[in-house]
Amino acid sequence: MSETAKSRAAELSHLRRDGLAAGDPIPLPLTMASIFHTPGVETGIDQYGRYDNPTWRAVEHALGHLENAQCVTFPSGMAAISAVFFALLKSGDRVLLPADGYHATRAMAERFLKPLGIICDTRPTPTFLDGGFEGYRLVFVETPSNPRLDICDISAVAKAVHDQGGILVADNTTMTSLGQRPLDFDADIVVSADTKAVNGHSDVLFGHVASRDADIISQVTDWRGMVGGIPGPFEAWLVHRGLETLEVRFDRMCSSAETIAQRLKEHRAVTGLRYPGLDGDPSHNLARVQMERFGFLISFELASEQKAEDFINGCELMQAATSFGGVHTSAERRSKRGDTVAPGFVRLSVGCEPVDELWKAIEESLDRIGD
Ligand SMILES: *Cc1c(COP(=O)(O)O)cnc(C)c1O
Repeated sequence: MSETAKSRAAELSHLRRDGLAAGDPIPLPLTMASIFHTPGVETGIDQYGRYDNPTWRAVEHALGHLENAQCVTFPSGMAAISAVFFALLKSGDRVLLPADGYHATRAMAERFLKPLGIICDTRPTPTFLDGGFEGYRLVFVETPSNPRLDICDISAVAKAVHDQGGILVADNTTMTSLGQRPLDFDADIVVSADTKAVNGHSDVLFGHVASRDADIISQVTDWRGMVGGIPGPFEAWLVHRGLETLEVRFDRMCSSAETIAQRLKEHRAVTGLRYPGLDGDPSHNLARVQMERFGFLISFELASEQKAEDFINGCELMQAATSFGGVHTSAERRSKRGDTVAPGFVRLSVGCEPVDELWKAIEESLDRIGD
């Protein structure tokens, strides 16, 4: 990880330090409140829970510190993505989405943006620059893409999009702001499903929008307050708590994934292995330039649907589950969720278990399914 990323991670644990009075709790107190004491005409204070809450502010401050940007939180990743679309787009606008990214983003655009007169096109991540960006009001990238882990050049896309007067949104869920900072490569907006590695304990849905453009932040905040798609204070508090160990978890998960990807490469049952950290992976060279780490997701194919199911269900240190980024290693056959991948395609999310024990369990399960 770069020095900047390391110092931001280090400072994260002490963000509350300056505001503390003697006797204050050092950990963040949880404020469960819909109403606040509002005598007279004072402004700039908390008044009503749909507009602000001290617990949101703390988690937004922490996430914003890692992004080096302003941050607005939402009750899920999809709520954050929807907020960007619905707050910033109008009828007649054209948007471009990755053809191979998170399926719900495309489905939402198809079902809810199109009927409003917003034109939605898609393009594969590995060739995202091909065709240019003329006429696009908003371009959305997801890099590495979920589930195939292809990547695109954020900085080159940002430049080309800006040359045509559009804005670039990056879904940074698979990397978190410790692993990649798209705003540093001139993306205008980052969206993230903090449901995944940021919270990291698989017990909360959450999301955020980050930007260094004050107008964008103000429009998205306004939209949240009007529409009422707000995060619960308790969820915000849990994500704040999760963030305190993000660096440790992310470091372990990425290091283990590097080891496991190398070992999977040698296993005869595995084909089509993808991990941006592997020398020779189509994503590797660009990953070295724009990613701080290579991530904790690995994808590969086994010979059939049955073998993939047997591998996942037979591995003692693996949960069969959708989603990723939790402390528990988990895996899923993605064709189950409608991704256009082979029936034996597995997306593996490496968790925090000690790596040699984890590899032993993976290897035993692979050996059991045979070739
Ligand atoms: C999970 C995910 C989302 C959606 O997040 P939710 O919290 O489930 O709404 C968006 N983008 C990517 C890349 C994801 O993996």
